[in-house]
Amino acid sequence: MIIAVDGSAASGKGTLAKRLASHFNLAHLDTGSLYRCLALDLLRSDHLPETIDETTAAASVNDLDLSMAGTAAIRTDAVAGMASIVAAMPAVRQNFLAFQRRFASEKTSHDGAILDGRDIGSVILPDADFKFFIDADLEERAARRTRELQDAGQSVMFRDVLEDMRDRDRRDRERSTAPLKAADGAMIIDTTGLNADGVFTAALRHIENHREQ
Ligand code: C5P
Repeated sequence: MIIAVDGSAASGKGTLAKRLASHFNLAHLDTGSLYRCLALDLLRSDHLPETIDETTAAASVNDLDLSMAGTAAIRTDAVAGMASIVAAMPAVRQNFLAFQRRFASEKTSHDGAILDGRDIGSVILPDADFKFFIDADLEERAARRTRELQDAGQSVMFRDVLEDMRDRDRRDRERSTAPLKAADGAMIIDTTGLNADGVFTAALRHIENHREQ
């Protein structure tokens, strides 16, 4: 089974993807971590969000160290901001495409794969068996992200997180290449006011109903 989960920042898409992965024994790839690793790599090489160019960013994808993917270093707002800037560059997206498709098609001990991101159902895996689009009110997502960052020991304020998220949302939704939007056939879940159990239950019910047919 192949599942595509797309959605906005802090919408709950990552949590849903992890839970579905464990329930159905699927290999899971958080594709946002690819863009975040690239962003961190560029920031550490002293590139700035204001001046980073497409050729430099795309070239960096080819020898990117993905060992940072599971670390806290990529989970900052500065890295997220840079990630959304380089993610709008077509050559960068192109250089990440084959890796993501290979991950989904690799034969492993898993029973399939689940990828979460922004363009999984629309561009990376348009033939996925199930597609979800996860969203929630901006203010609620910013409050979730503020709590997450504070729990991780970062000193951030709600107002700044909200502003950064508003900018990032706008870049992700308005870019011309692979903008954030619900893919055709995606089940849309608004997670405002829902907890992780509620989101998981809704997604599971959708899969089970459609598998039976
Ligand atoms: O999902 P996450 O918030 O970690 O993603 C960071 C940024 O990476 C997003 O704001 C978006 O610009 C970019 N991204 C993307 N396509 C994906 C995954 C992430 O453009 N499939």
